[in-house]
Amino acid sequence: MTIKNMTKSPAPDERLNSIQTRIQDACHQDRRGPSSLRLLAVSKGQPVASIRALADLNQRSFGENYLDEGLKKIQALSALDLEWHFIGPIQSNKTRAIAEHFDWVQSVDREKIIRRLADQRPATMPPLNVLIQVNVDGEQQKAGCSPDQIEALAEAVAQRPCLRLRGLMAIPAPREQQPDQIAVFRRLHGLYSNLQAAHPDVDTLSAGMSTDLEAAILAGSTMVRIGTDLFGPRTRTEQP
Ligand SMILES: *Cc1c(COP(=O)(O)O)cnc(C)c1O
Repeated sequence: MTIKNMTKSPAPDERLNSIQTRIQDACHQDRRGPSSLRLLAVSKGQPVASIRALADLNQRSFGENYLDEGLKKIQALSALDLEWHFIGPIQSNKTRAIAEHFDWVQSVDREKIIRRLADQRPATMPPLNVLIQVNVDGEQQKAGCSPDQIEALAEAVAQRPCLRLRGLMAIPAPREQQPDQIAVFRRLHGLYSNLQAAHPDVDTLSAGMSTDLEAAILAGSTMVRIGTDLFGPRTRTEQP
């Protein structure tokens, strides 16, 4: 038996196993198979070598918040068959690079962005997968559309063949008690079910991060976005 230095941070496979166990446990509690849930590794603020280490363990989907940082990583890792998700706030002058280099964009919250992404997605590429970000808490400063804007935005995405409407994304404010956290995710799931009723191809509810993935899964999330608990603390400064 090896003696472990307890202050040493866990290896990538240990972190991945531990997240997968948490996902499996929550899926089991929600009486569904773990294949109903996708894991997005949020690699913002993490070095390329850490992404490569997770890719070696068969993690394929990665999320980035900042365009320049994301583009550098996409380029550095272009030899690997990875799926890249843009999950940060979108300025309209950044849409072209998102449309040309990412597979998914999860943070779409206004029509102007939809129009630009559609115009700028190269015809030679498969449709860009789109999630509409909704601000479920109605917080003033936060990104995301209000719940009553979802349907109009969804329609704007669905009309455009080079975009593919996949569902919703949200980042609810943290609650201290798990039942309160589950309640807000259930409210989000209600919005998702309404969207699915109008757009039967919708299959993705992106909800849950390192601290609240269990609550999100119990409320019906189909994709969790995990940064810190998968990679350890972010090491690089974030740049808007
Ligand atoms: C940073 C970030 C995450 C990951 O957060 P952790 O708490 O590090 O797991 C997930 N989603 C979005 C949109 C983020 O910006």
